[in-house]
Formats: sequence, C-alpha cells, structure tokens
Amino acid sequence: MTEIPKDHPRYESLIAREKVTAGVKMGITSIQGLISQGRGESFDYLIGERSTKSALYAERAAVAALLLAKNPVISVNGNVAALAPEKVVALADVTGAKLEVNLFHRTETRVHLIIEQLRANGASEVLGKNPDASLELSHARRLVESRGIYSADVVLVPLEDGDRCEKLVEMGKTVITIDLNPLSRTSRMATISIVDNLTRALENMIKLGVELKKERKEELVKLITTYDNKRALSEAISEIQEYLKTMTVELEY
Ligand code: ATP
Repeated sequence: MTEIPKDHPRYESLIAREKVTAGVKMGITSIQGLISQGRGESFDYLIGERSTKSALYAERAAVAALLLAKNPVISVNGNVAALAPEKVVALADVTGAKLEVNLFHRTETRVHLIIEQLRANGASEVLGKNPDASLELSHARRLVESRGIYSADVVLVPLEDGDRCEKLVEMGKTVITIDLNPLSRTSRMATISIVDNLTRALENMIKLGVELKKERKEELVKLITTYDNKRALSEAISEIQEYLKTMTVELEY
C-alpha cells in the first residue's frame, strides 16, 4: 500500500481507497468493487463524511435486532473483507452472529482468500465455502449455506445488491443493510437501512453492541418496534439536503 501521511486532509478516504485496491491485488475484491467504492465515496461527500443522526438511529435498531436474533448472520463480500475485516469479526463476536462469505463475482479462490482474511483477523468459523442451499436468484449470490444465510432470521448485508436484499426480505428475514446511497434499491428494500460509511457504521455498531448487551430484552424489543425505516431513509435524504445548503451558504460569504 502507498504510504499516506496521517495529516493528509483526506486521510480516511485515501486509506479506504488503498485498502480496496490492495484487496483487488490480493484477489479478495473484484475489479468491479472499485466502482462500488467510488460510488460510495461520492455519496459520503454529500453526507458530509460523518455518521448522521438517522444513521445512528438505524445502527441502534440494527444492533438490537442482531442481539435478539436466534440465528443472526453477517454476509461478507470482497469490499467488506478488504475494508474492515477486523471490524466485521468484532461485530460478529459482540452480537453472536455467524460470518458467511457471499459473492456476486464468485470464484472458489476468492471465497477461500476471504475466509483466510477473516481468520487472520480473529474469526473462528466462516461459512460460505460449501453452499448447500439456494436463494431464488439467477446469479452466484444465490449460493448460501443452510445453517447460515438460508435459515437466518436476521441478516446484515453490508454493500449489498438490491436483488438479493429483496429476496431475503421476501423470505421473511429482517434485512439490515449498510449503503451510503439512500436511493439505491438495496436501501429502499431493506428492513433497516443504514446510510453510513461501512467503516464508521461498523465502529458505531461494535460500541452499541457492548452497550446494548447490558440492556433488558424489553428495551431492545422497544428499539426495534419503534424503529421506522421510511422515516430513517427520508431523514437521511433531508440530512444530505441540509448539508448541501450549509455548503452553498459557505460559498456565498
Ligand atoms: P442497488 O442494486 O442496490 O441499486 P448498486 O447497483 O448501486 O445497488 P453496487 O454497485 O453493488 O450496487 O454498489 C453497492 C453500494 O454500496 C452502492 O450504493 C455504494 O454507494 C455503496 N458503497 C460502496 N462502498 C461503500 C462503503 N465503503 N460504505 C458504505 N456504502 C458503500
């Protein structure tokens, strides 16, 4: 990876770019993953590169859902494995969720490399190598494990494609997504749509996991039943509008 000086004003963003590029070189991330990262970066600019109020509201409900689930699963793709392997492993640990590799551009080598990457970051078991069940999809993301995504009641699918998200919701699962684009099909389909950068969202969710684990079950149930995804998404769009207004005002003076 290229050395990025810590005092560079765009340090976080440049580091993320280096990580995804390194992921491609290592064979973990698909070349198309670079385009997803670029699209994410542009939305992050519009959001102001911060976790907004609506993101934190969704993250809290998402962690409550993971903690209350019978079989929570975190789905990992090549971008997630390149950007935040230690963070998905930590979130799985704190919430008791399983990890499963699930790829649109699936090759057995990539699945193997991602599993190794997660293991190197502390994961004990990672599903995805031996899919024995299928979702009703025509692409490789249909391949899942019966004791993982297939039977999960709550699934966290960071950086998802809209298709599979829709299918998982149709199957009656609580689907949590992390996607900086509040307009994507994924964000519109999910049960809990977190409009935040993957790295920031996972950091917030790990902290919330530690905090909410101490709460009574009724409190967690309340966080989920009072959560309104349409409200969260519409606030995410309003937060972008508000942020853009402040940027316009800055230019006027
Ligand atoms: P959809 O089918 O949901 O409309 P899409 O075609 O936009 O999805 P992809 O190209 O697979 O989907 O991109 C994945 C999504 O992930 C994009 O909306 C992008 O904004 C978002 N994204 C990319 N990188 C990050 C990141 N680091 N953090 C959060 N979101 C990200």
